[in-house]
Amino acid sequence: MDIVCSDKEKQVLEKIAKAATALDTPCYLIGGFVRDKIIGRPTKDADIVCMGDGIALAHKVAEMFKPKPQVAYFKNFGTAQIKLEDFEVEFVGARKESYRSHSRKPEVMPGTIEDDQNRRDFTINALAISLNKKDFGKLVDPFNGVTDIERKIIQTPLAPAQTFSDDPLRMMRAIRFAAQLRFTILPETFAAIGENAKRIKIVSQERITDELNKIMLCERPSIGWDLLFKSGLLQLIFPQMIELHGAEYIDGKGHKDNFYHTLQVLDNIADKTTDLWLRWAALLHDIGKPGTKKFEEGHGWTFHGHEVVGARMVPKIFTKLKLPLNEKMKLVQKLVLLHLRPISLTKENITDSAIRRLLFDAGEDIDALMMLCEADITSKNKGKVKRYLQNFELVRERLYQVEESDRIRNWQPPVTGEMIMQTFGLAPGKKVGIIKDAIREAILDGVIPNNYEAAYHFMLEKGKELHLQAVE
Ligand code: ATP
Repeated sequence: MDIVCSDKEKQVLEKIAKAATALDTPCYLIGGFVRDKIIGRPTKDADIVCMGDGIALAHKVAEMFKPKPQVAYFKNFGTAQIKLEDFEVEFVGARKESYRSHSRKPEVMPGTIEDDQNRRDFTINALAISLNKKDFGKLVDPFNGVTDIERKIIQTPLAPAQTFSDDPLRMMRAIRFAAQLRFTILPETFAAIGENAKRIKIVSQERITDELNKIMLCERPSIGWDLLFKSGLLQLIFPQMIELHGAEYIDGKGHKDNFYHTLQVLDNIADKTTDLWLRWAALLHDIGKPGTKKFEEGHGWTFHGHEVVGARMVPKIFTKLKLPLNEKMKLVQKLVLLHLRPISLTKENITDSAIRRLLFDAGEDIDALMMLCEADITSKNKGKVKRYLQNFELVRERLYQVEESDRIRNWQPPVTGEMIMQTFGLAPGKKVGIIKDAIREAILDGVIPNNYEAAYHFMLEKGKELHLQAVE
């Protein structure tokens, strides 16, 4: 099989072949590296499977390089890794697996290359290329993986129901590969995911979330989320998303399907940014809608306060999904909370004060927020979309102008709490807070400009109102 390798990769593979001959250990390139080379995708690490001791082979290979690279090995798993600059190679002995129902961790025995290919999850991942002297470069493709790559199909090498029941993580992987490669999961294979969906409970949340993040980083993440929905997995791993699905009608009035709207917003933002957290913000922006949905006579469907309810749900969802509870979570929460604000600024007669308040509340994340708001336009009416985008352009210009003159985006109080205490000889307490808040409000309302002198005078005035004496 001709695959295109870089000089560096060729050099490494030839050395592995030499080491394998020296140890009389047949070995093969296998898995994702072979798949991606055939597809023509960029490859990362390479997996080598050998009929013998993978750790010994790794050590032999390492000896052939100067300087000799470190071999990281895990005796219990019989695996070893060598890092050669940015090329990582993993070695493992061929194995046969047998599963027990309560765990996705199999019992492992040494096996042949066929056994090892049988335990692979998909035909496209079971391809091997010989690194042996007698047939170096020969493709070993017992399940027609190359044909499946050409047909853009995902299917399991053995019976799909058994494959998914043995290791239910494979269901998530099938959907992730479908989204990443834009391949179709064969109907029989997809049906088996539906039948085994409940088995997902034996998979750790970390592994599930790894796959969700990989889906999120696809060019069109909606493909993965839609397949999760249609397979029944979404209901089990993220039921709040299901609540968004469907449109209800009363008196002939319906609302849009918020699940598919959300997926469209996600794809829209994915066109603009590869940032994982902005993509999560898009996925969660309307998550509060089901909880706030009401039908109001004479008015129709409303979702008042869904941004507040949604923002409150974010930490719970991050906790459940074991996503990091750090400033990334806070960013997602902030964007969910503020996602309607720029829309309210598209109306006429918007004051500078309203613009300043948005700059103050969004701070550093104003550009991300504007990106989310634009992604939120999903109307099929092209004229409407154009009009909305133009409105946002106007909001952007206003934001720019107000920021240029007032510098609110990274606002720091021009007069600090410390200064207030010194001026009036105050100890930390309520009055300091009252003066600080009053200065901030006066600046945001445009009562005073955003500078030290103005804020200082304002502070003295405010002090008088509170019957405070300046000590010096
Ligand atoms: P990516 O690097 O994009 O995740 P990959 O196919 O290289 O793709 P890895 O998780 O590195 O994925 O796995 C390497 C190979 O190991 C796969 O190609 C597949 O042959 C096999 N494999 C990985 N996970 C499983 C699994 N849960 N069940 C069966 N085989 C698996």
